[in-house]
Amino acid sequence: MVDLQGQYAKIKAVVDPSIQEVMDSAAFINGPIVHQFQKNLEDYLGVKHVIPCANGTDALQIAMMGLGLQPGDEVITADFTFAATVEVIALLQLTPVLVDVDPINFNIDIDAIEKAITPKTKAIVPVHLFGLAADMDAIMDLAKKHNLYVIEDNAQGIGADYTHKDGSKTKTGAIGHVASTSFFPSKNLGCYGDGGAIFTNDDELAHTIRGIVNHGMYKRYHHDVVGVNSRLDSIQAAVLDAKLPYLDSYNKARRNAAKKYSEAFKNHPKVVTPSGRANCEGICDTCDCHVFHQYTLNLKNVDRDALVAHLQAANIPCGVYYPIPLHRQKAYQDKRYKEEDFKVTNQLVKSVISLPMHTELDDEQIEFITTTVLSFINSNS
Ligand SMILES: *Cc1c(COP(=O)(O)O)cnc(C)c1O
Repeated sequence: MVDLQGQYAKIKAVVDPSIQEVMDSAAFINGPIVHQFQKNLEDYLGVKHVIPCANGTDALQIAMMGLGLQPGDEVITADFTFAATVEVIALLQLTPVLVDVDPINFNIDIDAIEKAITPKTKAIVPVHLFGLAADMDAIMDLAKKHNLYVIEDNAQGIGADYTHKDGSKTKTGAIGHVASTSFFPSKNLGCYGDGGAIFTNDDELAHTIRGIVNHGMYKRYHHDVVGVNSRLDSIQAAVLDAKLPYLDSYNKARRNAAKKYSEAFKNHPKVVTPSGRANCEGICDTCDCHVFHQYTLNLKNVDRDALVAHLQAANIPCGVYYPIPLHRQKAYQDKRYKEEDFKVTNQLVKSVISLPMHTELDDEQIEFITTTVLSFINSNS
């Protein structure tokens, strides 16, 4: 699905000295490189504060702790996403409220959010799924109307632009009250281990969060709140700082691969491509609205699992993100949920398939993958 070795080979001359510098200085924790990366990422995103931490799941949890959410507070998020999002809500004894997603862009459904709001609702967590920004203008409007916080889960969307109604652009993660991201190796900006960060434009919240990531300490050995230990180590920061200047070109390479995939599947009656989505058509040629963390097809009248087996037999990796809706996961089942409220997710888990997507895909590979997919679909109709 990814080619991290191929990517590393091309930037070895930049990454290795950056890592070596940390080794030579032995400043493994909180070395100057962590602060340098933080500043560079703030500039890149156009966000006032980046607070590095240990991983993307911690980042989400710490964002919620920073907002002072209390047990019993309801937090609305998408049914169709990675479990980390709902996991931390439950871990903090907040009440997760899962809602359905949009059938076209797979992101949280705005009407479903509005329907789910109760007097206990405190926050909405949109996920920029597969690298495409959720409808942030609508979400921020809803949040304002109902006095809610918005926590962007930007683990899959780093580098993406959100285009506002007035045509202006903001990087995802710089729009909500607070945002989280992950630097897991396979993410669009990945380190060589675990890493994550929290973003916010709110000075006070940033201060609160800087204490929370460090055992609730605002003054050495004075613990004002219950915190956690969540750090981005210096070696990971060195990798990330060396890779950050490549992020735009990496996202461009992903987008180019996506365009070639979509060209091959164009107008096929059984294949809905991401670039064919209503709110995104054409825009992907000119902006960073979609950074293609995943390239995901929605199949119509195709035996998806048979296609997965067919691709595996041809040595083509593929993925099903995600095969089970969160509301049906054992850990997150809840009597309040009704199956008819999750029509889209219940369908997508059966019909989506993600093809290899990374920075090193070449034309020959794309050609082999698309012809293998098409030969299966066309011969099984
Ligand atoms: C990867 C991911 C996370 C978690 O990130 P980790 O660094 O693995 O903890 C959270 N949310 C989403 C949507 C993700 O894709």
